[in-house]
Amino acid sequence: MNITKQKGTKDIMFKEVNYWQKFESVIKEVCDSHNFSEIRVPTFEATELFSRSVGDGTDIVTKEMYTFKDRGDRSITLRPEFTAGVVRAYVENGLSSRPSPVKLWYAGPVFRYEKMQKGRYREFRQFGVEIFGSSSYLADIESITVAKEILEKLGIYDDLKLKINSIGCKECRAKYIETLREYLKDKIDNMCDDCKVRYEKNIMRIIDCKEDLEVKKEMPMITDYLCEDCKKDFENLQNGLKNLGIEYEIDKKIVRGLDYYNKAVFEFASKDLDLSVGGGGRYDLLVDMLGGAKTPATGFAFGMDRIVLLLEEKGMSIDKRPDIFFIASNGDAYFKASILQNKLRKMGLITDIDICERSFSSQMKYASKINARFVIIIGEDEIKNNIVTIKNLDTGNQFTADFDASVIMKSIEIM
Ligand code: ATP
Ligand code: MG
Repeated sequence: MNITKQKGTKDIMFKEVNYWQKFESVIKEVCDSHNFSEIRVPTFEATELFSRSVGDGTDIVTKEMYTFKDRGDRSITLRPEFTAGVVRAYVENGLSSRPSPVKLWYAGPVFRYEKMQKGRYREFRQFGVEIFGSSSYLADIESITVAKEILEKLGIYDDLKLKINSIGCKECRAKYIETLREYLKDKIDNMCDDCKVRYEKNIMRIIDCKEDLEVKKEMPMITDYLCEDCKKDFENLQNGLKNLGIEYEIDKKIVRGLDYYNKAVFEFASKDLDLSVGGGGRYDLLVDMLGGAKTPATGFAFGMDRIVLLLEEKGMSIDKRPDIFFIASNGDAYFKASILQNKLRKMGLITDIDICERSFSSQMKYASKINARFVIIIGEDEIKNNIVTIKNLDTGNQFTADFDASVIMKSIEIM
């Protein structure tokens, strides 16, 4: 029996991989221009890192982690997200001694054992940023701005909407949670099983749940219970976004799935599908929780696969075709062609050549199958006269040119 790929994984290749490469280069370009530095953290970590930071009561930790014992009997987990690993690296490498704030970005695969569906995989990719050392709303704005610029450069910013909320600090949240617990006390028995668990373990996540919407209509919302400080911060954030002309809406239902958030939280969702493509917020308590000094922090994570789906749906064209396919009549011609090919590559062209020792006509067929713009033919006559024959495969025009990279370059530009 053939071995096939695992459920929820995929092979990314050819046309699709062009989208990924474009996306990755835009991420790097925008993050570089904002003076963020890339961080590459391990794919697997001690299980405890995620159970402690992502939170024991979250879907990720209770249902979705790929956890196993290694041969040394350690409990290992494939990263289900990046923030925990980045914070661990921040603490472990003493990054707090660097000039503050420390601004980092990352991109790479993450793993969650989930039910497969469109836009939901078991191995998927995330990119994101983390900013350590600023408690100001300006740091939240900086990370939202990076996300916005990346989405703009990809041409999909207008297809998304930014939704923001504040989930308060430890103090105001504690008061709110009491109110919420009281409100739900006589309703929880009739709510879904997951929410019954949430009621005990992580009550705010009941707001996230898509079931029992009728009961929840009148539910108290954290946004209306913020303390003066958190209220001020949230107003600053909104004024900042207005000043920069960044459209947003307040969505009181955004509480984020992970335990480590506080204060500002946000999500970018598709306007059409209302599917979240990414989100983030502030997590001022996590560095401390993982053994570092108390350090304010904020960041976001985007699901890259969902963004690529959007790019594909928009039919954004990414044209990647070879400029020249060389057709050489024999070994000698091949080596002559190879010299020329090297020069043209250095001048920036994509070139290819037959490496199967095929006949002239099969080389010609191959050139048109791979959609080359030109073929350059080097046969016995061409070698004798020190010329090449060039054919434009789009128009069928054919002509000769000197055996010289610059001359060839000029003549294909004017064709
Ligand atoms: P969802 O509510 O869709 O499960 P989430 O709250 O679990 O999302 P986060 O943990 O915030 O998502 O991850 C950030 C982004 O990663 C999401 O906005 C989404 O774009 C993407 N994402 C999450 N889970 C998956 C998955 N299984 N496959 C592909 N992308 C995913
Ligand atoms: Mg999820």
